[in-house]
Amino acid sequence: MTEEKEITCIVCPIGCKILVKTDGKHIKNLDGNKCKRGIDYAEHEALDPRRMLTTSVFVDGGEWPLVSVKSTKPVPKEKIFNVLKEIRKTKVNAPVKSGQRILNNVANTDINIVATKIVKKL
Ligand code: SF4
Repeated sequence: MTEEKEITCIVCPIGCKILVKTDGKHIKNLDGNKCKRGIDYAEHEALDPRRMLTTSVFVDGGEWPLVSVKSTKPVPKEKIFNVLKEIRKTKVNAPVKSGQRILNNVANTDINIVATKIVKKL
């Protein structure tokens, strides 16, 4: 069965609207991109959409109650809910260093969550 999706390319400010037809596993047709960079973007977005994740984690005994964190790689869109659920359950003890690994292999994604700020101990 052929699926159609309209994807807005965000690789450059032109923002081409790309119409992608897939069978769910392969690209069947792609139309509307003004350059080749849009092909890669639309293929990934149609078949394996991923997002970098930024959020925060609770800190115990720190100068701030939260520390900002990010994923080390883009997270598959269908796993984002599970990843956020695991992050929400997490609490770290101060002090927290920037770049410190907070979670390994979060939600079995082979992606880590690291701190992006410093939180000193109180
Ligand atoms: S397809 Fe090319 S020109 Fe169009 S938005 Fe993407 S990068 Fe820009």
